[in-house]
Amino acid sequence: MRTHGWTRTVNDLAKTVELACSDCHRIITVSSGNLGWCLKSDEEVKGKSKKDVVNFSFSKKNGREPSDVEHKAHAKELKDDIVRVKPKNPECPVCPGSHLSSDWQGYVVVLNPSRSEIASILNIDRAGNYALKVNMR
Ligand SMILES: [Zn+2]
Repeated sequence: MRTHGWTRTVNDLAKTVELACSDCHRIITVSSGNLGWCLKSDEEVKGKSKKDVVNFSFSKKNGREPSDVEHKAHAKELKDDIVRVKPKNPECPVCPGSHLSSDWQGYVVVLNPSRSEIASILNIDRAGNYALKVNMR
């Protein structure tokens, strides 16, 4: 059976990478790699390939999938409207503006900061995932 690309979930599109906040050491998970394509005029319309975006856009407008001829025509129409999905600038939720580093060591999960020795050493007062050591570059 042939399946259409645009029915795939967004989760298939992106890999993730873990960065550590240089300030509070909190670990932030961000998407990287190919985030796919979307329309400049309608960012809800996105897909893994340009072809997916054309299919999605046509289906959204017409309530059905395009034929080969219609696909071609619609692709021409959207030619200047299809752009790469831009990754969002990652930010630490606790200290926005601080540097996020991909160079860090030691994954620490703090569940209960008030009862955790390592949390008091690292000055952590919120539960979460932290890096033991963050290297600045
Ligand atoms: Zn932070």
